[in-house]
Parts: sequence; C-alpha cells; structure tokens
Amino acid sequence: MKKILALVALLTFIAHPSFAQDNPYACDSYTDVPVNIQPRFDDPVYDFSANIAGIQSLANDPSHAVHGNHKNLTLGLTLYQPILEFHVPIKGVKFSNGLACAHVDHVEVVIGYKDVRVYIPREVPQGSCGFNEVIAHEQKHIEVNRQILGEFAPRIAERLQAYLKLNGTFREEDPDYAAKILNQKLQAILDDMAGEMVAENQRRQRLVDSPEE
Ligand SMILES: [Zn+2]
Repeated sequence: MKKILALVALLTFIAHPSFAQDNPYACDSYTDVPVNIQPRFDDPVYDFSANIAGIQSLANDPSHAVHGNHKNLTLGLTLYQPILEFHVPIKGVKFSNGLACAHVDHVEVVIGYKDVRVYIPREVPQGSCGFNEVIAHEQKHIEVNRQILGEFAPRIAERLQAYLKLNGTFREEDPDYAAKILNQKLQAILDDMAGEMVAENQRRQRLVDSPEE
C-alpha cells in the first residue's frame, strides 16, 4: 500500500511539475478551495388536469426527463428539468516568489431538478384509493431523486477539491486563458459526474417500477 502511495505521489509530481516547491517560477499551491455543492430539488407541483392519453404522450416525449415508463400501468408521471450550474470565481491574486499568481477563490455548484411536476390522471377520482396509491408511487420516485442528490453532492465536492488541489493555482501571464481552460476541465468533471448520477437515477427508478415494489 505504501508503495502505491509513493508511486501516486511521484506520478502526481511528474504530472504537475510546476508545483514543485523548489521551482522558483511556480505559484504556491492553494490546497483547500472551498467547494459548495447545493443540491436542488424543487417542491413538486401536482397536476390533476391531464387525462391518461395526455400523460402517455408526455411520457413518450423524449425531450422530458422522465423517471420511468409505466407501460402496463395507468399511473402518474413525474417530470422535471435537470439543472447543473457552476461558478468559479478566480481572484486573490497574490505574489509568490515575486510572481503574480491567481487561484480559484471558491466553487459553487447547483445540481438537481427544477420544475418538478407530478401528473395524476383526471380519470382517477381525487381522494380515492387508486388516487392515493398513484400519489404514493410518484412520491417514491421523488424520494429516489432526493436520495441520489444527497449521495452525489459530497462525491462531486470531493472530485472538484481533488482536482483543484493540483490545478487551482496558476501564473498570471494569461489569466483569461487559464480560467477558460479551468472552466472546461471543471465542466468535464461535472458532466462526467452528472452522467453517473443520471445512470444511477435511472437504475433506481426502475426498481421503484419493478413488479416487486
Ligand atoms: Zn413509477
């Protein structure tokens, strides 16, 4: 295990030679960039006005993020729009070894789902047994979304922190270019994590719709 750690440390050193402490042209690293991940899941709006056919066509519209597909069931539907926003202010220009350096001040990420809408077919009488079942079922789907957000928020923070530990500081020669590259890299990390989150969400939403549930 120790050997592996030593190897990782060496590879890290090679990959980021500009952060070697004895390099007089290196900026000091700024290792603990605060990363604030805000999971967002809007309170659902309940819609009892659509009929079964209308809900089916919403479910079949690929432009919507749909939790699952109730092919054999006359049930409700929960729709939402995914959100992924981030802000990476770069400031705190400082002088290190006589050099002008900049670092990422902090990172803010908002990830989640907005415009959450739960459709219950108007053919199902409000307050009936079936109606309560449909609502309870849709709430199970929403609970899965919330759980997944809760699990992914700290993982996303860790990934970004790990990246910024090594790459959050740079020479001030061309800060706009550096900021652009950094934004692209963070975007790639976030897209990657969001992709994982979507896949995990789909997997668990299918479990809610499996016959055993
Ligand atoms: Zn379902």
